[in-house]
Order: sequence, then structure tokens, then C-alpha cells
Amino acid sequence: MHEARLWTSLEDQDVQCGLCNHFCRIKPNERGKCGVRKNIQGDLYSLVYDKVAAMNLDPIEKKPLFHFHPGSYSLSIGTVGCNFFCVFCQNDSLSQSPKTSEHIPGEEITPEQLVQAAKHHGAESISYTYSEPTIFFELLQDTAKLGKQKGLKNVLVSNGFMSEQALDELGPYVDAINVDLKSFRDDFYREYCGTRLKPVLNNLKKIKELGWWLEVTTLIIPEVNDREEELKELTEFIYKELGREVPWHISKFHPAYKMKDHYSTGMQTLENAYEIGKITGLEYIYLGNVPGHKSENTLCPTCNNLVIERQGFATNKQNLKNGHCYHCGSKISGMGLG
Ligand code: SF4
Repeated sequence: MHEARLWTSLEDQDVQCGLCNHFCRIKPNERGKCGVRKNIQGDLYSLVYDKVAAMNLDPIEKKPLFHFHPGSYSLSIGTVGCNFFCVFCQNDSLSQSPKTSEHIPGEEITPEQLVQAAKHHGAESISYTYSEPTIFFELLQDTAKLGKQKGLKNVLVSNGFMSEQALDELGPYVDAINVDLKSFRDDFYREYCGTRLKPVLNNLKKIKELGWWLEVTTLIIPEVNDREEELKELTEFIYKELGREVPWHISKFHPAYKMKDHYSTGMQTLENAYEIGKITGLEYIYLGNVPGHKSENTLCPTCNNLVIERQGFATNKQNLKNGHCYHCGSKISGMGLG
């Protein structure tokens, strides 16, 4: 257990957590919505600082980040817990377990050991992922600071629901992020995730201001968030508010958690979404969870030649020169970032 950051004391030993946009008011001996922050006698504690529940050496493409240090490896860590309640969660054993069980699984691995492990295995970055990194903020912040000192990059894979203060605190230490923009309907966020859309949109704009490298992912669930009008609005938001150079990953839904009875996303639906993004004017669109599809490759938006060929998470060929297209010399967004 570790004392939490970003919280305030209220009357009757209640506390208010300031880490994410739920701003939970937590009574003594209770936990916040994420299940991993507990009020003990009027002080807030993180229950996961010393409980790393998942750790792997992953290709950066698996986050997914396709324009940030392509072909590199990222030491990827996560704890249990999440501030979302997505009924379609593809990782519910990790994200939802502390909401129904007192037990917090995981191993004590210090920030120093995580940084050492990343260096030892030749990773260029540490990724905070698998569940929702906001809820293990203290471990993330300490590891990211230390990693930065040792020349590592820091990457978040997030639902984008953190508070503005949490973003500001992480600002100098994070280099890149993939944010799930799960839908462009507040109703969807409320009904399927137990949260709200607006804070995610605000944070996406703020992330651009912070200067982190940004990629966006949308899991397309058939007959739930696949309507043309909604996808048009979502891609227009990316185009107008974030920039046409921001890569958009369209991900295939597989039946999971409380949506095991729902069917998988068909190829036609994914390709329709791809076309909508292209018509909007997005320059880099990728289909995810469909290994071998040609849309895994990066094409130069100027000359349309192949600049990165991928197969699943593997980068086979790079026709890049200092972050520019080898064929026509145009800048390929994100490539060659320090
Ligand atoms: S991180 Fe979010 S969900 Fe968890 S206690 Fe804090 S405000 Fe609540």
C-alpha cells in the first residue's frame, strides 16, 4: 500500500480523489469506482503501487502505436483496476476484478527494477497499459520520471478519462499515448462504459497541446457504434480538433465479458469505417485485429507509396529516411521523433 496523490480531505474523514473525471467522494474504509484507491482513516491509499499484475516485452505496434519508434520494443506493465465499466471489455479479468474481490493480485516490482528490466531487454520505452494507467498513477509517475532520466520513452494506453491535473502532472514525462475514443455518443459512454464522453474529448485536445505523440483507437461493435453518421462525426472531430495526421486505428470487436452473445465485427463494417475516415481526410487509418490486411501498412499520403510494411505487429520493411518518405521526401507524421 502506498499513499495516494491528487486527493483532498473532506468532512467526516471523507476524501475526494482528483485523479480522474469521476472525482469520487470516498468514505472511510471504502474504495473509489476503480476499486484500487482506498480511504483508510481519512487518508487515501493506492492499493496497486506494489502490485504489478502484468508485464511483457511487446512490440510498440501492439499498443497500438504505428508512428512512434516503429519496430521498437516496449516494456509493458499494468495493474488490476479501471475507472471504466465497459461491458465489452477485452481484458476484464484485469480491469474489473478489484470491483468484486477484496484481493489485489500482483508482484512488488519497484520503479528502479522496471527501468532496469526495460534497459536490460533493450526496450526503447515503457508502456503503461493493459488496464487503465490513470488508476496506477503513483507507480506510473515514479517509473516514468526515472525512466526518462535513463533515456527511456514513456507511453500510455488510455481511455482518456484522467483529470486535467493528472495530465498536467504527467506532462513532462510522457512521450506518446494511444487513446480509445470508443464512440462519439455520450449515451454510449453512459450505457456501455459507465462514464461520459465530454471529458475524453477535452483531454484529447489537451494532449495535443501537451505535445505528446497521439494515436486514436475505436473498437467498432456491430449495430452499437458503427453507424455512418456517428463515424463521420468522430472522424471529423479527429480531423478538425486533433489534426488529419493523427493515426486512427479501427479495431475489430470480439465477443467478450458481458457481450459474449454479441457477434464479431465483419470485414465490410471495418472497411466502411475506413472509407468514412478517408473521405473525411484522415491521412493514416489502420484496421486492427485483422492480421494480414493491407491496411496494416503505412502509405505516404503524398505519393501513396509504401513506407512501412507490417504483418500483424511485425514491421517487415521501412522505406523511410530520417522520418521522410524514401520515394518523394514528404514528412511521415510522428516518424523520426526523438
Ligand atoms: S481514479 Fe477515478 S475512479 Fe478511481 S478513485 Fe480516483 S476518481 Fe475514483
